[in-house]
Amino acid sequence: MKFSKSSKLLERAKNILPGGVNSPVRAFRAVGSNPPFIKKAKGSKIYDIDGNIFIDYVGSWGPMILGHCHPKVAEAVKKAVDKGTSYGAPTPLEVELAELVLEAFPSMEMVRFVNSGTEAAMGVIRLARAYTKRDRIIKFEGCYHGHSDSLLVKAGSGATTLGVPDSPGVPADIAKNTYTAVYNDINSVKMLFEKDPEGIACVIVEPVPGNMGVVLPQNDFLKKLKSLCERYGALLILDEVMSGFRSTFGGVQKLYEIDPDMTCLGKVIGGGLPVGAFGGKKKIMQNLSPSGPVYQAGTLSGNPLAMTAGIATLKELKKKGVYEKLLSTTDKLCNGVEEMAKKKGLPARLAKSGSMFTLFFTDSPVHNYSDAKKSNLEKFGKYFRKMLENCVYLPPSQFEAIFVSTAHTDKDIAKTLDAVKKAFRAI
Ligand SMILES: *Cc1c(COP(=O)(O)O)cnc(C)c1O
Repeated sequence: MKFSKSSKLLERAKNILPGGVNSPVRAFRAVGSNPPFIKKAKGSKIYDIDGNIFIDYVGSWGPMILGHCHPKVAEAVKKAVDKGTSYGAPTPLEVELAELVLEAFPSMEMVRFVNSGTEAAMGVIRLARAYTKRDRIIKFEGCYHGHSDSLLVKAGSGATTLGVPDSPGVPADIAKNTYTAVYNDINSVKMLFEKDPEGIACVIVEPVPGNMGVVLPQNDFLKKLKSLCERYGALLILDEVMSGFRSTFGGVQKLYEIDPDMTCLGKVIGGGLPVGAFGGKKKIMQNLSPSGPVYQAGTLSGNPLAMTAGIATLKELKKKGVYEKLLSTTDKLCNGVEEMAKKKGLPARLAKSGSMFTLFFTDSPVHNYSDAKKSNLEKFGKYFRKMLENCVYLPPSQFEAIFVSTAHTDKDIAKTLDAVKKAFRAI
């Protein structure tokens, strides 16, 4: 397999784009390799500029649940272009997508559309702080909620519970308002509430994290979070930017029967165009400008092309049998991978939620970020590179989810399992 054109382009790009990319994970640093530059995508395949064709399990990091260039989505967007690409004024499309989203998320009574998951999480945190009149927030190690200052924070060391910046440029004065707890460890949350019973505005969590690789909630963790929040007057915010519409027409909050105060969405609801959203209870949402004093705005928010792609995607997902097929395709793939790992005696753990999953190269259970970090990254790197050589494009990091789409066929799965077999042999 040749990557000469991509390698050349990367050199050119590196001079003018930091690292040659516009989002870090795309640079393939974690797997010791260079990224192919993509020229087009269709269905389950992506095509690079060197003429390689891959079965794609990144799906633009989640949005492409119907596969690339789904005819219904593509047609709708093409038609929308002819009607103008942005007005900066309200449109019927925003109302239609809002109604679809609220139908899928009964916990949400109102919603605001933004342009990314980052913006959604940033907006919802401001609203939670304003509503509760409290400044501190709790997040979990290994969960990702975009790159805003308050959320790019890690746990402080030793005795202090105050968060510290997880990136240069995040002021320590901002980071100290973010506490970090351990996913699946309800005591780590309880301790923070006991230390600061009247200071915590909200707990934000990926109900099923995908950003440390897929990790499943254990022992009613989410229900316990909800009741802790209730006890201390804090809001529970479920960040379903990734998990939303991945398991069912709605969120994993439906499956785990959680009624959060607020929810963040993104990825799938934009059908491959830039859309994020946050929403929840009316009494909270009504504080948002212009109906309330909490400021939030966006020149391109509710963009007609983006709304159109979102509507077309959700309408497809709503059709009968779509999730049954998507989940059964995912099961076939996961069962095949697990069987082969077992046969080979490979230390590996597979975690699956709906149509997303992660194969961790570790022999101990993964319930939180430090468990995930026990994975053998060298093995993962080898596995990744071998899969790429065999025309399977996986997320280039152990700490990411693999995304299956409705465009993946039985033939794709068979080819993928064949590549897995070869890759397992090589590591
Ligand atoms: C991807 C993601 C975000 C950030 O969304 P962007 O559109 O990349 O800004 C936030 N939260 C979760 C759970 C995500 O997976």
